[in-house]
Amino acid sequence: MPDSDVIGAEDGESVSDAGHGPAVPAPSVEPEDSWLGADEVIRILKFCGQVGRLLGLPDFRYVFAADPSEEDCHASVTVASKRYVAVVAVNKEWGGYTVRAKAESLAHEVLHCFMARLDEIWDQACFNDFIPSPTAQMLQRVWVREMELVVDLLTMFVYNTKDLEKLWDDCGPSEEDEVTPIGPS
Ligand SMILES: [Zn+2]
Repeated sequence: MPDSDVIGAEDGESVSDAGHGPAVPAPSVEPEDSWLGADEVIRILKFCGQVGRLLGLPDFRYVFAADPSEEDCHASVTVASKRYVAVVAVNKEWGGYTVRAKAESLAHEVLHCFMARLDEIWDQACFNDFIPSPTAQMLQRVWVREMELVVDLLTMFVYNTKDLEKLWDDCGPSEEDEVTPIGPS
């Protein structure tokens, strides 16, 4: 899928886990072109889709970010909620994480997708000509902090009520994902 399918949302159409106000959706890559490797990326995207289904977000499409997430977060997501597209990034150290850390981190990001419309409405209410910019920035910091708390609580609820580690295992490479080698066998 070309990047142009994913990026290019207008201002205010997207939200970012980075929490710095209205964000531009991150560029994405196909799994085989990613820095992480196709198998792991396919598993990440399948897992996000399955968690989304658990939450009643079946229409979201998850794609992988071209660049790793910031060093201080295990993963991050940029959402174009009107297009039901989420660009998922993971940390450069992802390969060393436990299954629990991976499952919790990705569930957290999918929950941000769940909350994306609220973020979007907040952005529209906050960043306009009627609210001075310093006030908007202050309100935004409070909103981001409180949203992180809510998302963390919901992540723990999902983790404690669903077997996310088994779900991660179930999303591993399967025969239907394997590419048939071309050439003489
Ligand atoms: Zn978060």
